[in-house]
Amino acid sequence: MRRTCDLLIVGSGPAGTAAAIAARRNAPNLHTLVIDRTTFPRDKTCGDGLGPGVVARLEQIGATDLLADSRPIDALRIVGPSGESVSGPLPTIGGSEPKGFVIPRQDFDAALQARAVTEGVELLPAHKLVTLDTSPAHTVITRAQTPHGHVSIQAKAVIAADGARSDIRRHLGIPYNSSKTTGLAIRTYIKASTHPFDHMEFHFRKDLLPAYGWVFPIERGHANVGIMIDAARYDPGNKTLRTMLNEFAMEIGVSEFDRANTGTYMLPYATSVPRLTHNRIALVGDAGSMINPFSGEGIAYGMAAGIEAAERAAHNLQQHTAASPFGDFDDWFHQRFGKHFRASAYAKRLAQRQWLANFGVRAARRRPSLLAEGIHLLVGEGTSLSWRSLITVLAQGNSHLRG
Ligand SMILES: Cc1cc2nc3c(=O)[nH]c(=O)nc-3n(C[C@H](O)[C@H](O)[C@H](O)COP(=O)(O)OP(=O)(O)OC[C@H]3O[C@@H](n4cnc5c(N)ncnc54)[C@H](O)[C@@H]3O)c2cc1C
Repeated sequence: MRRTCDLLIVGSGPAGTAAAIAARRNAPNLHTLVIDRTTFPRDKTCGDGLGPGVVARLEQIGATDLLADSRPIDALRIVGPSGESVSGPLPTIGGSEPKGFVIPRQDFDAALQARAVTEGVELLPAHKLVTLDTSPAHTVITRAQTPHGHVSIQAKAVIAADGARSDIRRHLGIPYNSSKTTGLAIRTYIKASTHPFDHMEFHFRKDLLPAYGWVFPIERGHANVGIMIDAARYDPGNKTLRTMLNEFAMEIGVSEFDRANTGTYMLPYATSVPRLTHNRIALVGDAGSMINPFSGEGIAYGMAAGIEAAERAAHNLQQHTAASPFGDFDDWFHQRFGKHFRASAYAKRLAQRQWLANFGVRAARRRPSLLAEGIHLLVGEGTSLSWRSLITVLAQGNSHLRG
């Protein structure tokens, strides 16, 4: 069977679906087709934390009503290796309210996908991209495997939003991130009546530094709990992710968790973003390694990139202007997020040292501006991690020790 479309989006996670909605809104006359290898609702191993950046992106595509039935969270708590903690408000992004949400991806991704279909996007579930032919001059030809055989799809532009193990990335010959720029994480769902569950919590535990364990509350008494570690530091012969998760759960006073719903997956950090634009193809989201190396957050950046790539393709395909439908998308991405990711990576390097992580928490307890900077690096778009901040951390942490 043969199909044609203007814009093909491969992958219907948040990056691909946000792109599809943006394309429809910007160019309703173009034929936008989304394929995904699975049928939704499907789970995606994740912390389920939707930071203020996701709220801002949903506003951009007119879909904030998808959050209406969920409990907003407006604060974040950071726990240092010594157990000392500090809490502060979530940041505002692009004028949106300083709120976050925790919604299981099984629900969030399905709701976003249903919205795309309502907006007129054509969706083909259970279609797995298996080959890619970039040799024709003005189109890309893909082949997708379906339960009923193969389908050939010819598109004028392709957005690759097919996740951390992107098949398109592999077909283009772009290596995946090395273990030095990849995170590994495990998550589960817990029930506990005693935990407060009112903040998004980041626990910078000694054995995980510079990464951390999280508690993201879904509703009173329920949370998504997990731990993240750099792949290069992971030695399963010494301690498995499951053991680390058990230890973390015990530390926060939780003994009951949903073992059937425990999952592990990888996080390609934005410390190694590949070239994103390949003539008529653009990589977005995890396929383009767009995960904050400090926090592991990736949904907001993936959605932002998906929306931008789709708007560019919508404009250029209608105007028949640029040779590449995505123009200088790479430059846009690096200008928009490069400084943020560099600052986040720097903060992470500092947090590698246990004493410095403890100093940071102590200093943030005394200086709200420093706390705001740290939170903005974790779940916002902060770019400032100045020498002044570092000196404040050293001075305040040290004075506390002497005091
Ligand atoms: C344990 C863990 C916790 C995390 N916690 C958070 C968090 O709390 N907040 C946050 O912002 N980020 C978090 N992240 C990162 C976040 O999960 C990703 O950044 C995000 O899912 C990226 O979205 P995406 O749309 O690029 O890819 P995905 O969500 O992975 O979607 C990719 C889609 O492509 C489809 N696909 C794959 N291959 C093909 C193919 N060949 N053909 C057709 N379809 C295909 C898949 O079925 C899938 O639906 C976490 C990651 C992990 C592993």
